[in-house]
Amino acid sequence: TIGMLALDAEGNISGACTTSGLAYKMKGRVGDSPIIGSGLFVDNAVGGAVATGMGEEVIKTVGSFLIVELMRNGMSPQEACEEAVRRIVTTNPNHVNFQVAYIAINKKGETGCYCIHPGFKMMKYENGTNNPIVAGSHLQ
Ligand code: ASP
Repeated sequence: TIGMLALDAEGNISGACTTSGLAYKMKGRVGDSPIIGSGLFVDNAVGGAVATGMGEEVIKTVGSFLIVELMRNGMSPQEACEEAVRRIVTTNPNHVNFQVAYIAINKKGETGCYCIHPGFKMMKYENGTNNPIVAGSHLQ
């Protein structure tokens, strides 16, 4: 999945995601990317979030919507991404076998990213510069 979140000069947030789908997926499987609230969610009053990785786990926790709601209730984008990953790892002991990663942004332009396994990177474009950021991870 490629997930994108943007904040324009007027403070409007937008988001988009593609999906590579899952390798060897079952015929008819729908991943999280096309499901609003799971793979992608934006509320222009609060912020946005996008997911990549094992879509079933993102769908079960309505991950991107969860992150935006956590931000609405006061969490930073980073804290919200970490909590959304925590929801997955605490309910699924099999989490060592798959990856889920989130990125998020709020109205102030603060961003966050977090994943289960190390190795997920996001690119943050700000003031004319691209800054690669290595996401923190639940497993080391
Ligand atoms: N999230 C996608 C899916 O479950 C996989 C991906 O990250 O491309 O279909």
